[in-house]
Amino acid sequence: MAALADRLAGGLEAFERGGLRRARHVAQGDAIDFSSNDYLGLSRHPRLIAAAKAAIDAEGVGARASPLVTGYLGIHARAEERFASFTGLPRALLFASGYAANIGILTALADRSAEIFADKLNHACLNDGARLSEARFTRYPHGDLDALEARLAASTATLKVVATDAVFSMDGDVADVPRLLAACERYDAWLVLDDAHGIGVLGATGRGVLEHHAARSPRIVYMATLGKALGGYGAFVAGTPIVIDWLVQRARTYIYSTALPPSVAGAAIAALDVVDSEPHLLAALRRRVAEFRAACEALGVPLAPSTTAIQPVIVGDAARALEISRRLAARNMHVVAIRPPTVPEGTSRLRISLSAVHTRPQVEALAAALAEDLRS
Ligand SMILES: *Cc1c(COP(=O)(O)O)cnc(C)c1O
Repeated sequence: MAALADRLAGGLEAFERGGLRRARHVAQGDAIDFSSNDYLGLSRHPRLIAAAKAAIDAEGVGARASPLVTGYLGIHARAEERFASFTGLPRALLFASGYAANIGILTALADRSAEIFADKLNHACLNDGARLSEARFTRYPHGDLDALEARLAASTATLKVVATDAVFSMDGDVADVPRLLAACERYDAWLVLDDAHGIGVLGATGRGVLEHHAARSPRIVYMATLGKALGGYGAFVAGTPIVIDWLVQRARTYIYSTALPPSVAGAAIAALDVVDSEPHLLAALRRRVAEFRAACEALGVPLAPSTTAIQPVIVGDAARALEISRRLAARNMHVVAIRPPTVPEGTSRLRISLSAVHTRPQVEALAAALAEDLRS
């Protein structure tokens, strides 16, 4: 037993030396949070809170079973209908989380005979889903769709699946969905889009990456999470009836997992209602992004080319990123340092995310603090 524990202790020491040891901090109420994914501030919105409470009163705290047993409740059916109409896709299916949804989609769609093509910077759970599927797993350099096409052309697999973040979670850039779709059409592949950071944020009315690019296709399998701009927890997949029915039959993370709590489904419906009825929230987020970028530009703070809520400042060295994050914390600004293996070696960064709940003075103060802390 001592040897087993020593092995872990040695690993932990190595993380510490490399500036890669992770630690949790209980979220402080007084610091300004520039790291959450609560882009529209919906996690504390009174309408979501009221909807969650009402769902508990009506249906209880837990769903009591997985959806194919007795856990599929009226509120789940209503949420799925609402997601389908919100995204303009025929059908939708609720999952326990984005992580579970991506694992379920890829393992259900792809098998040993398939090849999955994935952007190098995709979220970890798309990679895990691809590995678990036992399909051939081919990653192409970030955003390099010529490389993707070359790999699709060279593939002998009888079933092809392209999987990509729609908004890259650590960079904030948006995938070129029209070109991806054209490539998928040429090589007859499914296109799995993970819009975790696009729903509520992209498109004229916050419907996400499909609205942003005016993209539509029966080969799109669309996944979006409820834990980011929509303020709650969980995820849904939307697509054609055939795809959704297939997932109900074969997505193991759907079949073998307890259905979402009614309160979570209720809050999700309320979140879509708020996105539709309070467009000033999305407008405020967009103003904060523009103000923050303008202030950074004026002060010489290097920004990544992102127009979304995610505004990373690439620092490079992990220890330096951590040090700058500490200095910002001393100013009551919470900005996490993101280090390998979440991001590639040498690209440690401050992952700043902006929200409709921030004010103009707050985002301008952050830009000024960054300018100072990056200089010293
Ligand atoms: C957060 C995230 C997920 C995971 O979603 P959860 O609901 O938190 O499990 C999946 N994909 C991307 C791109 C994400 O950013």
